[in-house]
Amino acid sequence: MKSHIEIQRIEKSKIDSVDFNNLPFGSVFSDHMLECDFKNGAWQTPVIKPYSPITLDPSAKIFHYGQSIFEGMKAYKDAAGKTMLFRPLDNCIRLNKSAERLVIPQIPEAIFMDGLKALLEVDNDWIPTNEGSSLYIRPFMFATGNGFHASPADAYKFVICTAPSGAYFAGKVKVLIEEKYARAANGGVGFAKAGGNYAGQFYPTQLAIEKGYNQVVWTDDNSHQFIEEAGAMNIFVRINDTLITSPTSDRILDGITRKSILQIAEDAGIKTEVRKISVGEVVEAAKNGDLKEMFGAGTAAVISPIAGFGYQEKDYDLPELENPFAAQLKKKITDIQTNKVEDPYGWRVFL
Ligand SMILES: *Cc1c(COP(=O)(O)O)cnc(C)c1O
Repeated sequence: MKSHIEIQRIEKSKIDSVDFNNLPFGSVFSDHMLECDFKNGAWQTPVIKPYSPITLDPSAKIFHYGQSIFEGMKAYKDAAGKTMLFRPLDNCIRLNKSAERLVIPQIPEAIFMDGLKALLEVDNDWIPTNEGSSLYIRPFMFATGNGFHASPADAYKFVICTAPSGAYFAGKVKVLIEEKYARAANGGVGFAKAGGNYAGQFYPTQLAIEKGYNQVVWTDDNSHQFIEEAGAMNIFVRINDTLITSPTSDRILDGITRKSILQIAEDAGIKTEVRKISVGEVVEAAKNGDLKEMFGAGTAAVISPIAGFGYQEKDYDLPELENPFAAQLKKKITDIQTNKVEDPYGWRVFL
């Protein structure tokens, strides 16, 4: 059974004011948004309405105690104009894992999926068709319930906003392997897409930028001897012809791009390993020429190649390869996402 969704259409679309040939990433918003409130112990009827500000009580707990989680996903249109999502149920499941950890109520799968599909139908013209472009989708949930006592709120809001976006291209990034700060700790909330995780990353990242780097490679909070993620992306390291990524844990986000890339790489005959990667191993491989590639993986950029890294006041450059794994894998995954090739995995979901 489909959820009942109330639809309030915008009077006049803003779409004519948008240049779809020059889209930034995530800063132009579609006409509509979906809102669904949780109050009196129950989710209310979801509403699709014009994109507009949200008014909250100053004592709403989101402002004080940070009960706030989100997801990031994309919708694509193929050459025939069909709309697709990529593994959307995984985002719903992960949002609920984050919700559990932050004591936010579970969002029913029907509200998430039917709400998302209805929103994409209403704003279908906002899904870009240009090569590399997509509709970036941001589902999020936060505490609207009020009061200054530090305890979970009694009311929440689930929202989905969308942003037609051009390719997220950071260029080849230079990263700094972190030796002091940590993104996440054992027993903490690193595995959740909780807003506060990102707030905590900004300061160390700012310090790295001041030193001339673009991004931080996070190491484990205890020894800082093992690399874990690159900025807000999962990290892959290629040593000779083996592609390695760290196992997910309390501290590492279980990325959908990461697990899709692992699958695609294995099926393409690339040797993969999921294991801890020590900083010493990476530095050693960089010195003796075995380190061929490093890249970040996440929904926004898909794959973001790393040009070099800094560690203990020394810089190490990665080689320029003819046909790097990063480019091969990015093409394979985006071809599946945009319906250019067969999808043997059943990852695409048509609207
Ligand atoms: C969202 C995110 C990722 C990537 O997850 P995807 O599902 O691939 O988008 C990786 N690391 C962190 C910290 C993230 O927030």
